[in-house]
Amino acid sequence: MPGDNLTCTEETVNASERTSHVPTWYTATMMPAPARPSLAYDLDVDVCVVGAGLAGLTTALEIARRGWSVAVLESRRIAWSASGRNDGFVLPGFAAPMDSVVSRVGLEHAKALWALSEMGLKYVRTTIAEARLPGVAPIAGWLKASKIDSRDELLDDAQLYGEEFGTEIEVWPTERVREVLKTDHYFHAVHLPRAFHIHALNYALGLAELAETAGARIFEDTAALSIDTEGVRKRIATPSGRVRAAHIVLACSVHLGSLAPHIAGTLLPIWSYTITTARLGPRLAAAITYRGAVTDTDLASNHYRIVGNDRLLWSGHTTTWEADPKRFVRRLKADLAAIYPQLADVEVEHAWSGVLGNALHRMPQIGEVSGGLWLASGFGGHGINTTAMAGNLLAQAIVEGDDTWRLFAPFELVWAGGSVGRAVMQAFYWWLDTRERWAARAARRREQEDLRLAKRAALREGDEETGTEAQLGAVLPREHLQAEPQRGELPADPVAAQEIPSPSIDRQTVDEPLEARTSEKLR
Ligand SMILES: Cc1cc2nc3c(=O)[nH]c(=O)nc-3n(C[C@H](O)[C@H](O)[C@H](O)COP(=O)(O)OP(=O)(O)OC[C@H]3O[C@@H](n4cnc5c(N)ncnc54)[C@H](O)[C@@H]3O)c2cc1C
Repeated sequence: MPGDNLTCTEETVNASERTSHVPTWYTATMMPAPARPSLAYDLDVDVCVVGAGLAGLTTALEIARRGWSVAVLESRRIAWSASGRNDGFVLPGFAAPMDSVVSRVGLEHAKALWALSEMGLKYVRTTIAEARLPGVAPIAGWLKASKIDSRDELLDDAQLYGEEFGTEIEVWPTERVREVLKTDHYFHAVHLPRAFHIHALNYALGLAELAETAGARIFEDTAALSIDTEGVRKRIATPSGRVRAAHIVLACSVHLGSLAPHIAGTLLPIWSYTITTARLGPRLAAAITYRGAVTDTDLASNHYRIVGNDRLLWSGHTTTWEADPKRFVRRLKADLAAIYPQLADVEVEHAWSGVLGNALHRMPQIGEVSGGLWLASGFGGHGINTTAMAGNLLAQAIVEGDDTWRLFAPFELVWAGGSVGRAVMQAFYWWLDTRERWAARAARRREQEDLRLAKRAALREGDEETGTEAQLGAVLPREHLQAEPQRGELPADPVAAQEIPSPSIDRQTVDEPLEARTSEKLR
């Protein structure tokens, strides 16, 4: 893929830009990004997009490419939130598991949704390749390793994704997984060779440049304070200017707040925590040689990948409130060391948090909320492909009147329960996490017990002994052994030749039955 070889070096870092984004490994390796102006005047456009995360940027790019005027308002910096801090895994699908999507909308509908999610993945791949986006460095492959020996479940998954949805998918046996992920915590895995991972922030910065080249205007440090959706021309107020537009696209994720409180209440904010290690050098290959992205859970824990040649990016743990990422460094290091004891005590260079928004059904919220007011939100932890998909769907809908977005209509705006919803969700995550850890421990115990039994059985059959001696080179095949000497061939035994006096034996005592002698003594 063109552009793959472009790597970020310290020289490409624009130091003046670092402070505005939360410091992460991404900001330490970001491409130079000029600050965009804030809006200081009134503006008339066809479409006003609020939020310059991946959803807003893709929507703006695709609207501008279709020749409409578009302005993007961003309250902080481009990709300041989840879009510039995520793990960078580009996978097909959604945050919701597909079996739940199938049971809600039926197989055929689910297939159409899955195809859209794959379209999102291909869009990201093609955009990076065609525009040769610098510093994005896509690397192929995603491995979902199982910590429990659930081969049948994996085969079911592979059948659903491979046969029903037409995704290229492989099931890797335990031995193959352990060859590249050198830990006995993993069993089978599913492998998606066409998934990939990227430098998330550089991808977002690249999208912003493409959108501007296509004619979009992006304003940073420009919060949308209120919207007036009455009338044909909608109004958006910002601190120093006003925008009038025929359409508004809300792409603010969990930061929507007072701008549209009834919509904001439909998302549950979930914070997740990430570290990157110092350079690991040759130590890394003793643990991990797979260069794609790795996940070993259905939850937010243990997502990792190699970045910058020999560092590890490792993320996990979720809270429904914002916590200091430093508090999670020790836990994330412990997670890493539990799977890879070879990497215990690695040095951590960056730690940060990011917040994503999940609807209760865990599917994206895409569509027209009221005449000319559009929503692109709720992408959960699966937002790189789905924001690309949403941006395309909304641009097609707004400019061309296409209504493919209605495929998402069954996933309505449902109130997420406010602070009670957050508390319940947190308790639910803890319960799931505990259950997963328990199942993983049980699977390892089972494997160790099986190994122990196999070893004992081998020992009983003498295989083990023979095997060990063979390894030492001490065993000769039976036919090569010298024949046992006959008695007469033996040299004279110097001891046996001497006369050894026999002890005197009292015949009567010997011939007496044992019971008689014993009962005598007992009396
Ligand atoms: C730690 C973490 C890891 C993740 N890993 C992955 C992964 O590996 N793969 C994957 O596919 N997904 C991943 N995700 C999810 C993915 O990052 C998100 O789903 C996606 O970035 C959401 O994009 P967005 O544009 O909707 O929202 P955001 O990125 O949150 O962007 C919203 C933007 O709107 C701006 N804004 C909000 N309100 C206003 C306002 N009133 N006025 C102006 N601007 C406003 C904000 O400042 C922000 O920049 C991860 C998320 C997190 C947190």
